[in-house]
Amino acid sequence: MPLLFKRVKDIRNYLQELKCAKGKSIGFVPTMGYLHEGHKELIRRSTLQNDITVVSIYVNPTQFAPSEDYNKYPRDLERDMAICEELNVDAVFAPSDKEMYPEGFGNTEVRVKDLESILEGEFRPTHFRGVLTIVLKLFNVVQPDRAYFGEKDYQQLKIVEKMVKDLLIPVQIIPVETVREPDGLACSSRNVYLSPEERESALSIYRSFLLAQEMFNQGEYKADVIKQEMKRFILSHPHIKKIDYIAITDPFLNPKEFVEVGDRILIALWVGNTRLIDNWKIKKPETQL
Ligand code: AMP
Repeated sequence: MPLLFKRVKDIRNYLQELKCAKGKSIGFVPTMGYLHEGHKELIRRSTLQNDITVVSIYVNPTQFAPSEDYNKYPRDLERDMAICEELNVDAVFAPSDKEMYPEGFGNTEVRVKDLESILEGEFRPTHFRGVLTIVLKLFNVVQPDRAYFGEKDYQQLKIVEKMVKDLLIPVQIIPVETVREPDGLACSSRNVYLSPEERESALSIYRSFLLAQEMFNQGEYKADVIKQEMKRFILSHPHIKKIDYIAITDPFLNPKEFVEVGDRILIALWVGNTRLIDNWKIKKPETQL
């Protein structure tokens, strides 16, 4: 079993010894737990590239708005520990709220103002400051050499990269491609909220990316036309309650009028009462033989 730490001071002591006395490299995978194949891929990458892998499991209250799913977010530490054992994780950090936000916490916040209010930020205005504040705190606890983030949360990845650059944080951010179920649905802890019928409709997200890619392959470069067609396709499925946004941007989240290889399509929508996000990188059309 990996070592389980609940206290900042305990994991600090453990890592200090490994890092300073023994010169070990530390890989870090921050998560909110209820681990799935996406998380597992991040962990595998870390164990390949580092001597020691630390996984944090913490459902951070400050990144949820009062109306969001903080209370019902799935949690199962025992199951997560078993997965971490399978993957040879060295240490799991699963702190309490009191440990991360002790009495007297001064509401210090980290913000990347350029990126926090677009896309996700328009619908979740306080989300990214919650994310960045906890990520920086976790970095300060673990002091990793490398930290692993999924492209599934593409805007989060870009914002974390920007924070690290702007604040000169000595960590290398390693992006990991989105892991999907065999039918294309992006792995997410929130997929457990979906009924079988809703899950079927949620597949329209991945299929709309394939549709967009096919339009691009056929020579349609106008972002508006592609987005319109994706929207029409997705809304033709039952249980899709609302699309928050479909956006096409360059890799740095600047909106695009004409689509090129390497651009991103980002989407957020509601399937029943579940909000899902996903994104797609525009690829080169396959060479026709
Ligand atoms: P979460 O537990 O949802 O906060 O996610 C923890 C980390 O796992 C984040 O860096 C996510 O981007 C990443 N992640 C979540 N789902 C996937 C996925 N399907 N593929 C790759 N990475 C993922």
